[in-house]
Amino acid sequence: MSPARAADCARCGGTGATFVLPTGPVCANCRRYLAYHPAVCPECFEVRPIAYPSLSSYNVLVCASCAEEPSIFACAQCGREDHPYGGQRCARCVLSERLTGLLTDPATGRIRPQLQPLFEAMTSSERPQTAI
Ligand SMILES: [Zn+2]
Ligand SMILES: [Zn+2]
Ligand SMILES: [Zn+2]
Repeated sequence: MSPARAADCARCGGTGATFVLPTGPVCANCRRYLAYHPAVCPECFEVRPIAYPSLSSYNVLVCASCAEEPSIFACAQCGREDHPYGGQRCARCVLSERLTGLLTDPATGRIRPQLQPLFEAMTSSERPQTAI
């Protein structure tokens, strides 16, 4: 048997694993799958991506917080795991960036005051990805 290449995904066996979990490297597809299919963490009972071995038992998978690990699923901008969208950021951050571009008054470089309530309503909605 040849030794496994360092960049093979521990989950699907594919190449190009660029995200590192305590259980092994995973590819972008598997990271995305885990992020889009969160489950109830058996330790904190929050719905989160479950991919980290528990501190009490390596065979039990829990969320990043319970495992005291930095989450590979967290948004690069705000650090939240909910509403993953695209590669590295969450839907909320993508939406607020787009809305800021759309609603900003070029004269002042700021969101028009009359549009601020709309901005807040859209970025705080339960499912920001539907507003994009
Ligand atoms: Zn994979
Ligand atoms: Zn947890
Ligand atoms: Zn975010």
